[in-house]
This record gives sequence, structure tokens and C-alpha cells, in this order.
Amino acid sequence: MDTRETSGPGTVAPDLGPATALRCRECGARCALGPRFACPECFGPLEVDYTFTKVTRASIEAGPSNIWRYRQLLPVPDGVTATRNTEPGWTRLVRADNLARELGMRELWIKDDSGNPTHSFKDRVVAVALAAARELGFTVLACPSTGNLANAVAAAAARAGIRSVVLIPADLEQPKIVCTAVYGGLLLAVRGTYDDINRLATEIADDEDWAFVNVNVRPYYAEGSKTLGYEIAEQLGWQLPEQVVVPVASGSQLTKVDKAFGELGDLGLVDPRPYRVFGAQATGCAPVATAFKDGRDAIRPVRPATIAKSLAIGNPADGPYVLDVCRRTGGGVEDVSDDEIRDAITLLGRTEGIFAETAGGVTLASLRKLLDEGRLDPAARTVIINSGDGLKTLDAVSSVVGPTAEIPATLEGFRSALPS
Ligand SMILES: *Cc1c(COP(=O)(O)O)cnc(C)c1O
Ligand SMILES: [Zn+2]
Repeated sequence: MDTRETSGPGTVAPDLGPATALRCRECGARCALGPRFACPECFGPLEVDYTFTKVTRASIEAGPSNIWRYRQLLPVPDGVTATRNTEPGWTRLVRADNLARELGMRELWIKDDSGNPTHSFKDRVVAVALAAARELGFTVLACPSTGNLANAVAAAAARAGIRSVVLIPADLEQPKIVCTAVYGGLLLAVRGTYDDINRLATEIADDEDWAFVNVNVRPYYAEGSKTLGYEIAEQLGWQLPEQVVVPVASGSQLTKVDKAFGELGDLGLVDPRPYRVFGAQATGCAPVATAFKDGRDAIRPVRPATIAKSLAIGNPADGPYVLDVCRRTGGGVEDVSDDEIRDAITLLGRTEGIFAETAGGVTLASLRKLLDEGRLDPAARTVIINSGDGLKTLDAVSSVVGPTAEIPATLEGFRSALPS
């Protein structure tokens, strides 16, 4: 992969819009834009650095109804909309009054990212990774995945007419396997945990000239999650929420929602009022919540055992940064049991007509718990993220919901089944 570094003779600097360099999150060292994720000085994670040109609300509002309306804030070529391969984003922000009433809250919103092309927020990060990867000269899109990323990578590659290579845990939910396989591409079911597969992918990325969206082009991929934060603020009428609850797998999404809110304030696009960020995990895979509660900085890896497989990362790369954001903003990280996840999925369905996947259940159940513990203000404007579609995790709730009754095809049978 070093052959693609932009500093070599005869290579041209990539056009990645406002992105100017990669910068180490630990030591601050800078290096040229390229397919790198680890700092050459200290091996810390690299993040995209920008010089933003003048961005206005009007220039954003004049853009398309997808993530590319924010292209002036993303590491993608300027012409990305003309050559777009997928159009994720601009998903609905639903005011959840029925649910708010049930929870005793004043103003609750659901950012429903199940409306993306492959029904999870992962289409956002893949679209940005693909745009950057093509500019960097890659022709194969790859990933290790807990499920939703596999769907998004295989679909985006199919649409772009390039090859995909996807690695998933062999024990993944059947719908997530089918929803990847249908797009073609190489799909390998690996006997191991996500963390095993992630390690394998890092080794493969050293040998093959492939863009592993969440490995060697991770700095660009991660920036795609900023669009969730931008959209929430724009859809609230260019205002930041006071509280936001975000699901945590690797922790990237949460840190980028915070980064987006910060950038909007810095650019004068919103009034930079304080907000609190809360993370949500399943108790069966809660390394970040545990570190938060213990007041530790280091994340102790765990072996996941939860129905929330899309969040089952036992050794989360961005865990320490999640702790930083949640502590700095006065938020927190909570974790919830599988039963609490199931309850939350049915609560959301019953009150708002939205069917969330297990990750959405984790987020709502965590909101509920934070309210019960008095750590979240029920009077403050709050947004929670539903990051995936319940149709992909049917098995999680098929044991707790079903027909009200089975009846014969007679009027008598029908009447006997009606509640009295
Ligand atoms: C991947 C994923 C997340 C969290 O992603 P990270 O950025 O790795 O924390 C949340 N929800 C769903 C449904 C996902 O697939
Ligand atoms: Zn460094």
C-alpha cells in the first residue's frame, strides 16, 4: 500500500476537496493525504485536517438532498455529486411526541437512518470512503464488518462497477448475510469474532492493493459520520440539540457527531451552545461504558455476547475518544441488557411506528435508563439515533411479538378474539 503514497516522485496530490493533510490524534504529527491510518511517528490514529472555504447555510441548502450537500466539509473531490455512486443521507428526523409522552420528556427526536440505501447509517461512511478511495487510485473496495458495513460496501461497489471483498463473522444474522450476498462480490464468512476478522483485514491490507474502508482508508470513512451531525442540526432549523444519544461500536460515529457539531459552531452555521453527548452499548459488549463507569481511560477488550451484533466490537478503536467526548460535554456512556433492547424495539414500534434494528434498541433503552437514573434532562431537546432497520434483525424480537390470536375463518372466531 506504500506504493500509493503521494510524496513519491511522479505522483500528483489527490483532490480531496477541503482536506489538506492527515493529522495524528495523539501527537499532532501531520502527513500527506493518502491511504494511511497510523501515525508514522507514534502509530496513533490519523484524522483528516481541513482548510474550509466559505460555507454558508444557503450554499448547503442549494445542494442535493443527500450527504453531498455537505461536500465542502468532506474529504471528497469537488465534483463528487456529478459522479456519485450512492446517495445516502438526508434521512428523516422524526419528532417522537408519543414516545416522549411515554418517557416523560418534553422534546424528543429520532434521526432515523434506516432510510439509507442499504438501511443503515453505514451507507454514509462507505460513500465518503469510496469517493476518497477512487481519488487515491483504488479499484477494489473491501472491509471487515459486523454486518451493516458488509451490506453497504457490497452495494456501493456494485453500483460503482468495481470489485468488493467483504469479511464477516460466520455466525452473523442470516438477513445481513443475504443482504450482502445479493450484490455479488467476494463474501467470506470467517470463523471468528469481529475483532479476529479486523486483525486479519489489517494483515491483508498490507499485502493487497485494496481500499479497506475501515482500515487503510479509515480516516476518510470516519468523516462520513459527520453528516449525521450536520443533518441533525440543519433539520432542527440550524440549531444544535441539547442532548444526543449515539450507539457505540468502534466509537467512530459518536466522535464524528461531536466533531460535526463543533465544526458547525466554528463556521458560524449554528449558535455554538453547549450540548451533551451520551454513548449507548449492549451490556454483552460494553467495554466503553465499563471504562466510563469505572473512571478509567484505558479500554479493556471484551468478548462480545449480545443480540446487538452490529455493535459487537470488543476492542473499539475509538473507545478512548468516546470517553473524551462524553466527559468533556458532561454526557456519559450507558449499557443495557438484551431484554431491555427487545423492550425498547417494541416500545418504539408501538409508539412511533418505527422498526429499529437491535442497535436502535440499544440507543432507546440507554436513553430510558439515563432518564431513570436522572442523568439525562427530560426537559432538554434530545435527539437519539436509529442507525439501522429492524427487518435485518427480525430474530431478535420474533420471540416477543407475533399475531394477537389465531382464529378460524368464521365471524364467531373473529368476535371471540376481540378484546372485550
Ligand atoms: C456500525 C454501526 C454503528 C456504530 O458504528 P461505530 O462508528 O463503529 O461506532 C451503529 N449502529 C449500527 C446499526 C451500525 O451498523
Ligand atoms: Zn502520532
